[in-house]
Amino acid sequence: MTLSFLTLLIISIGFFGVMFAGTPSDPENDDDDEDLLTDERRANMNPAEVLQAFKNGNKRFVEGNLRRRKFVKEVSATKEKQTPYAIVHSCIDSRVPVETIFDARIGELFSTRLAGNVINSDVLGGMEFATSLSGAKLIFVMGHTRCGAVKGAADSAEFGHLTGLVNKIKVAEKSAKKSFNGKADPNDYAYVDHLAKEYVKLAIEQIREESPVLRELEQSGKLLIAGGLYNIGNGKVDFF
Ligand SMILES: [Zn+2]
Repeated sequence: MTLSFLTLLIISIGFFGVMFAGTPSDPENDDDDEDLLTDERRANMNPAEVLQAFKNGNKRFVEGNLRRRKFVKEVSATKEKQTPYAIVHSCIDSRVPVETIFDARIGELFSTRLAGNVINSDVLGGMEFATSLSGAKLIFVMGHTRCGAVKGAADSAEFGHLTGLVNKIKVAEKSAKKSFNGKADPNDYAYVDHLAKEYVKLAIEQIREESPVLRELEQSGKLLIAGGLYNIGNGKVDFF
């Protein structure tokens, strides 16, 4: 008799335990989609606020405090149309997963990636599409520390098509050497990282010079062109 009562008690506790434990993970009962980027939310943000959202996203990434994700919901929410608020131009480096380091959801960012985040006319075309035609309000050019392409530029590397690519970065050498506090040694990553930063600044100038569409959009206040350097050692983006 006692045994049956105990058995019943254990089963009851187990049953209610499962009921209560199950509630928070019920897919119908969460509000994870309250911050999905809709047309309306994007329309209410100015370019500076988009940049702030980037800063907040990177802070969450660094602190390990990422937003909860339901990829199926994000896919479903974006199946008819996309309303990204920014385009990021970054390097191909495997340690720089753009959406992850900004804690961005599906549909929030356009992304172009080329080794050394070099600029060419196709990249500019993508930026013009993302902003002028699709409504993104921020162009974010992002280099990163210990970049192989930038190191190649500092080393004056010559290899296949990479020669032309690193030559695009080498254009920033003059200002990098001038502003670097120390010897411009290609084997010193303090210098290589400084060159990466100088190239991002140069790339931003290049965007303004070579694309009248983007220049005018920025002058009208509808677009912000900004840059930063991602630190592969600690996950932080240095915004500048
Ligand atoms: Zn790189």
